[in-house]
Amino acid sequence: MPLQGEYLGMSVAIPDVDRPNQEFYTHCGQGVLHLQSCVKCTLLRYPTTTACPWCAESEYVWTPVSGKGTLYSYGEVHHAIQPTFQQFTPYLILLVELDEQRDRPNRFDGLRINGNLADASGEMAKPELVATVGIGSRLRVVFKSIGDGMAIPLWTLDTEIKQEAPWRYPDN
Ligand SMILES: [Zn+2]
Repeated sequence: MPLQGEYLGMSVAIPDVDRPNQEFYTHCGQGVLHLQSCVKCTLLRYPTTTACPWCAESEYVWTPVSGKGTLYSYGEVHHAIQPTFQQFTPYLILLVELDEQRDRPNRFDGLRINGNLADASGEMAKPELVATVGIGSRLRVVFKSIGDGMAIPLWTLDTEIKQEAPWRYPDN
């Protein structure tokens, strides 16, 4: 069965042939971030793919990860192309480096996941929160249910730890 949901008024559909993404978003719907772990080389990977980018093995097992990481880079969107996102500008597109597998398989690699900045309940972050986040911010995953057992992973500030001052692109 294709999975069908809705996010911010937009329809989301994942067809049967895309089994790995159906599984990814269903794990998110159960509240724990899982990534594919290659059965041959054991490395985790993201984005979800049908084969290991390191050794081309197609078999994998879903492995739970902490869902915690550090902001590696970001883009700040002031002019949204997608109409749904216009109400949230300026918003952040994050590239979060997970704590797992940093510098593996070599020092240039790591598990980096993209997503939007959200508040702790999974709603898109307000400008006051956007202004406090930058490279080096410590983040944790939150999930926004979209129906059909699926959820979308978003990222919010980890308020359980002391945050160092993040680096931000200079204002123009
Ligand atoms: Zn592999």
